[in-house]
This record gives sequence, structure tokens and C-alpha cells, in this order.
Amino acid sequence: MAYSYEAPVSQTLFDRASLVTPGGVNSPVRAFRAVGGTPRFMVSGTGPYLTDADGREYVDLVCSWGPMILGHSHPEVTAAVQDAVARGTSFGTPGEGEVALAEEIVARIEPVEQVRLVSSGTEATMSAIRLARGFTGRAKVVKFAGCYHGHVDALLAAAGSGVATFGLPDTPGVTGAQAGDTIVLPYNDLDAVRAAFAAQPGEIACVITEASPGNMGVVPPLDGFNAGLKEICAANGALYISDEVMTGFRTSKAGWYGIDGVRPDLMTFGKVMGGGFPAAAFGGRADVMAHLAPAGPVYQAGTLSGNPVATAAGLAQLRLLDDAAYAKVDAVSAELRSLVSDAFTKEGVAHTVSAASNMFSVFFTDQPVRDYEGAKTQEAFRFTAFFHSMLEQGVYLPPSAFESWFVSTAHDAQALERVAAALPAAARAASEATA
Ligand code: PLP
Repeated sequence: MAYSYEAPVSQTLFDRASLVTPGGVNSPVRAFRAVGGTPRFMVSGTGPYLTDADGREYVDLVCSWGPMILGHSHPEVTAAVQDAVARGTSFGTPGEGEVALAEEIVARIEPVEQVRLVSSGTEATMSAIRLARGFTGRAKVVKFAGCYHGHVDALLAAAGSGVATFGLPDTPGVTGAQAGDTIVLPYNDLDAVRAAFAAQPGEIACVITEASPGNMGVVPPLDGFNAGLKEICAANGALYISDEVMTGFRTSKAGWYGIDGVRPDLMTFGKVMGGGFPAAAFGGRADVMAHLAPAGPVYQAGTLSGNPVATAAGLAQLRLLDDAAYAKVDAVSAELRSLVSDAFTKEGVAHTVSAASNMFSVFFTDQPVRDYEGAKTQEAFRFTAFFHSMLEQGVYLPPSAFESWFVSTAHDAQALERVAAALPAAARAASEATA
């Protein structure tokens, strides 16, 4: 596919990057391989806008894949970061900022009685699984096809996000031993979960699920699915781990737990709680967390865990996220969803706008999507045409049909008008696209 617009400075940077970094990027989906063209190298962000190295401005509908829920360069978050940096960037000792961030998380999310801070969502899920295995003395882990929990060896089987984008069934480098204790089941299928427990009594340590998946596109749990998981786990002595790295502090003040009220044994967080810095966490039942070193025998550690700059950014962001902020993000998302759907309807493009609170994505199918198999039946080639038309018109979408779109409190009427102005031509491009 040829593109009528160019990004010469980004292209030069990408060429340089490709010499010194595999594929030119530090996280695969950023390389635009699913959609083609030159990845944009961004130089600054303000509010709902990003500016690339060629000086072009975009309305940002990725928000750093979720974290930037207040928009870019929010003055109060920036001030908190500057203040923290001025006092030193890492001490390798405990500090008050990490206590305050942990208190904020515990106060917001009732099932979290204790929390441990880490530096990435991957670390959070990896550690939660180790803890679940250590606590139960069992080896097996149930995960769902299309759910992504970071690049943890045992969890890369049938994963979403970049693994879905690139159509990888699994990845070389993960040995049979590492993946052998992972049981992958279809999402939203409680019978499959019951059958797995029946087939392996006393062997399953935990079920890990995205609280509401956003990594195969947005595919919310059917009514009763999460409650059913919790019930099955409780009946079988396994732990129910809700991965809220994406949904936590985004879908509501208490994340997806604030919406469905199903009480997990362990939860994982990242993205929003770091305010744009590498901060993440896992937490839950105090009796389970008590098994973690140094209180208990399950080892887990990190040189930069609870980093003072990251915790200052996260805390500043969380403190600004009150009911009014969530109402704003929800309203922006609702307006955008209706603009997008109207544009496709006008052009006769079969589509489903699938939402979970303010997270949403577009599937190019008119069939409801309930699992990864369903997500893969969409006409993803239409997304490529749509994506490039939006990009050319100054709207930055996730460069994959299998990712959530994210908005922020900073997406004001002007930003939405820019998106609205771009949609008709992009919807036309989607309708004219061929496989
Ligand atoms: N869990 C979920 C649900 C995610 O969406 C992600 C990342 O997108 C992760 C875990 C991994 O987080 P990180 O990229 O910070 O390692």
C-alpha cells in the first residue's frame, strides 16, 4: 500500500533505530507492521495532542496505551514530578511516596488489603502468579485466549495485544516446561473452566483474566462471567487473579472492580497508576500477600520498585482522578463512539463498536464479539485503510485492529471536532478497502 503523505524525519529516525534496535522499536506494536508505513516518532505531547518529529500534530487516541488519562503534560503531574526529581531520583531505600501510593490504592480498591509496587505490568502479573503458586503449592495456571498479561513466559500462549496483532500462536524462546503448566481456554466460557478444573483436580493454582479484556480489541465479560470464575476458583481452592493493568483506575475510580464488584484474591495494576512513569503493582488478600518476602518465603524484589519519581507521578495523577474526571472521560468516550459508528453507518461499513466503560474498539464485523475467535473473524484489512486516512488527517489511532482506543479528560470539544472532521473520509477509505 502506498501512502500519499510522508514523514521524512520519522523515517530517518526509524532507519537509524533499525540499525541499533531489533525492528527499530522497543515494543513491537509501535513499529506499524500491522498497518504498514512509517512509525511516527513523537517529540512532545500536550493535553489531547501529540507532535511528531516532522512537526505534525495529532489528536492522540492511544494515550500511551492507557496511562495518560489526564492528557499529556498535565501541569499538576508535571509539577509533582519536577518536585520529586529535584529531591533525587532513586534511593534504594523505603520512602514516604511509596507508602502514600500504596495507601491510595488500598483506599480505592476494597479487595486490596496489601499491595507491592513493581515497575511494569509484566512484573506485576509474573509476581502474582508466582505468589499464587507459592501460596497454593500448585503449578497450573488458567488463562484465556486473547488476554494479554505482559510478556511473562508462562502467559504468552494465545496472548492478545502484539501477539494477536502479529498473528503469533506462541513465541519461540518459551520452553515447553515454561508453558506446560498453562491451560488456555476460550474467553467467556465458564463450562470450559469447569471442565478444566474437573480434569485436573487439586492442580490449578489460579485463574488469571483481564478484568475486562482490551487486548483482543475490547471484549467485555458476559454478565456473570467474572462472578462465575470467582465461584469456581473458591470451590476448588484456587486463586482468582484479576488483571487490571489496563482497566485499573481507568474504567472507574476502583477500576473494573468498581463496576462488577467481583472480589478477586489478587489483582494487578499498572498504566494509569504510574502517571506515565514505570510503576505497577499487585495486591489483594492480606493472608496471601503475607507469603511474599520478606514477610514470607515467596521471593520478589526490584532495584527501582517504588521509585520516588514514578510514585510521585502516579500519586499526583490518582489524586486528580475524582468522580468528575471519570464522568468527563466517560462522556468523551461516548461521544467519540457515536461519531465513529455514525461515520461507518453512513458509508455502509459493517462494524461493531465494542465498549467497556470508557475503553472501546471497533470490530469490522456486524456480529457480536465474545472471544478471541470472534475478534479474528473481523475484516481487519479495513482497519489499515481507516488507520492511514485518520493518521494523514492528524488523528493518531492504535496501529492495530486488536487494541483498545483510549481518551482522556483533556479531549475537549476542539479535539473531538478534529476527529469528527477526519472520520467521513476515513470511513470511506474503510468501505473501499479490499483484502
Ligand atoms: N496486563 C494487561 C491487561 C495489559 O494490558 C498489559 C500491557 O498492555 C500488561 C499486563 C503488561 O504491562 P506492561 O506493558 O507494563 O508490562
